[in-house]
Amino acid sequence: METLTAALRSLLPHDSVITDPVRLRTYECDGLTYHRATPGVVVLPDTAEQVARVVRVCNDFGVPFVARGSGTGLSGGALPREDGVLIVTSKMRRILEIDLDNRRAVVEPGVTNLAITEAVRDRGYYYAPDPSSQQVCSIGGNVAENSGGAHCLKYGFTVNHVEACEIVTPNGDLVTLDRMDPGYDLLGAFVGSEGTLGIATKITVRLSRAPEAVTTVLAAFESIEQGGQAVSAIIGAGIVPAAIEMMDALAIEAAEAAVACRYPEGAGAVLIVELDGPQAEVERQFTQLTEICSGAFELRVAADAAERAAIWKGRKSAFAAVGRISPAYIVQDGVVPRTSLPGVLAAIDRLSQEHGIRVANVFHAGDGNLHPLVLFDDAEPGAGERAEVVSGAILDLCVEHGGSITGEHGVGVDKARYMPKMFSADDLDTMQLVRCAFDPRGLSNPGKVFPTPRLCGEVPGVRKGVHPLVESGKAEQL
Ligand SMILES: Cc1cc2nc3c(=O)[nH]c(=O)nc-3n(C[C@H](O)[C@H](O)[C@H](O)COP(=O)(O)OP(=O)(O)OC[C@H]3O[C@@H](n4cnc5c(N)ncnc54)[C@H](O)[C@@H]3O)c2cc1C
Repeated sequence: METLTAALRSLLPHDSVITDPVRLRTYECDGLTYHRATPGVVVLPDTAEQVARVVRVCNDFGVPFVARGSGTGLSGGALPREDGVLIVTSKMRRILEIDLDNRRAVVEPGVTNLAITEAVRDRGYYYAPDPSSQQVCSIGGNVAENSGGAHCLKYGFTVNHVEACEIVTPNGDLVTLDRMDPGYDLLGAFVGSEGTLGIATKITVRLSRAPEAVTTVLAAFESIEQGGQAVSAIIGAGIVPAAIEMMDALAIEAAEAAVACRYPEGAGAVLIVELDGPQAEVERQFTQLTEICSGAFELRVAADAAERAAIWKGRKSAFAAVGRISPAYIVQDGVVPRTSLPGVLAAIDRLSQEHGIRVANVFHAGDGNLHPLVLFDDAEPGAGERAEVVSGAILDLCVEHGGSITGEHGVGVDKARYMPKMFSADDLDTMQLVRCAFDPRGLSNPGKVFPTPRLCGEVPGVRKGVHPLVESGKAEQL
């Protein structure tokens, strides 16, 4: 590690290479604090060229490297390696170009998601994908996770808003992947690859025109089942709202305690529905919406931007707010078909009661993207394990209903073990072939996404005999 550090110091300014054990611990986990590892060394490059040089040195030394943006990931994707280099993009925060004629912006990877919208809002534009962490999460992290957000129901995920990406490949080359490139959609493969195919160093994002009209409605229901049925009915009626978010009673209690959002008292569930588009269309959809939500005991319509922000305040702060009602919690991220929402939510409730573990539900209901918050007291013996069991059983429910083990938070290190529940060994082998085409030496964020550190060059298919790595206990057989 010492020779490696010396090589890195020869490439970067002194204060951009961190080896002090106390400072290294700042980077030992991301938003998922359950998994921790102190990085071998941390570097904070200023430019793409510096990132490329660092990656080349990693190749020379054969050490793994992990990219990190703002560290808000919730699946341990940016978990560092003790024997490796953590490449943090927080100094690469320049907005390089705003080109409204072509409705795009070119930005460095450390730029925060919200900073893009803030740079163009006055001119009537915005960047559509809006994770709840948008004030702090980096666009590089968004690309790596294919992040979503409340408004992705109508406008699509990050992949629909990235036009090009300059990347440092795992062997240290600087190349550009462009949506307009003929041939295979390599940009599409890169988005959502969780740092396993290289590091994004420059991103061209699509800007969207701000809608003519926006109406934000809060509907309070007595039960979560009624709320779930309303979601299916809204989509079934052909309305595609900009967002449909749901919170259950426990999530409302947490938000109330943290930010006093003043949602209707006694609600078993609230729906936040946002309609946007041309004025006439929004008005027509609003009439339909009020009919569909006639079972709600209160409908609140935001009269202006301040009231709209007040409605969103509870939802946007819900994850952090849960800290007010529980010492520890696991944020899950699964998907189910929208029509299964009422049944799956009832099943989650049963799981919660069986295991004596509270579960708060706050989620992107329109996408069927659940974010159950599994609450536990880490001081209570066995509570963490019970919460893990409930959390895993929720993912099983999602798969059983034809959904997915992750909607937008990535697989990371946390959900790698669930991948075989969704994919066959052949599926995983095929994904490994893609990964190995970019990263034959397996140095770029190893140990993430895939449950087994398989070797590049291995031919997919029925395994013959026990692999030496499996025999030595370093890898597990799928
Ligand atoms: C309170 C809260 C709310 C959230 N809400 C949402 C939400 O609504 N929707 C949503 O999708 N997510 C949400 N998230 C999850 C998280 O914010 C997103 O996954 C975000 O995209 C992570 O960005 P980051 O910069 O923090 O990435 P990090 O956590 O630093 O890294 C995430 C992954 O990206 C890789 N990576 C980082 N930078 C690069 C790069 N330049 N090139 C290649 N790989 C890179 C890392 O190796 C890692 O695998 C939330 C998180 C929190 C804490």
